[in-house]
Amino acid sequence: NSAEEQAFENAFAASHDADYGIFMVNGTVTLEAALAALDIGAGDEVIVPGLTWLATAYAVKYVGAKIVFADIDPATFALHPEAFEAAITPRTKAVIPVHLYRSMADLERILAIARKHQLRVIEDCAHMHGGKWDGRGVGSRSDIGSFSFQQSKVLSGGEGGICLTNDQGLAERLYRFK
Ligand SMILES: *Cc1c(COP(=O)(O)O)cnc(C)c1O
Repeated sequence: NSAEEQAFENAFAASHDADYGIFMVNGTVTLEAALAALDIGAGDEVIVPGLTWLATAYAVKYVGAKIVFADIDPATFALHPEAFEAAITPRTKAVIPVHLYRSMADLERILAIARKHQLRVIEDCAHMHGGKWDGRGVGSRSDIGSFSFQQSKVLSGGEGGICLTNDQGLAERLYRFK
């Protein structure tokens, strides 16, 4: 990594209250890397909202896991906590809530349901740079937060993406995958 890249990773992570930032080429690879770092692959199911950009679901396909769609909450346009819980099966390993169109998914309820069922949570924050939930940066309360810097996003570098995490072991796995 260049010094500039490391400085950006540290500053972006700190501004979202996360300990580690791992910069990548786009916000699809970040989702794929997040799933791979969490050891999710063939035979596993990952729940994603039925309304999102296709990268959220494709990343699940890229690691060989099964995409399971759950409905959105019409009030937030994000994953409905009850639809999420209803979609859980014994094969479910993770969920990817998306803060779509800068409307927040109900993180409190989604994280509580995930904890109850021992599921991993990857937050797709591709639209939510700088967002806060209960005073804390998005992407920093789940296992891994994923952001995109593609041209149409709030903060753009033309292309780019970053994963945030507070877990040193996960940060190392993300970096190796990159
Ligand atoms: C843009 C976007 C991504 C990732 O996009 P890239 O173009 O690969 O950086 C992922 N999820 C959502 C919801 C997006 O809008």
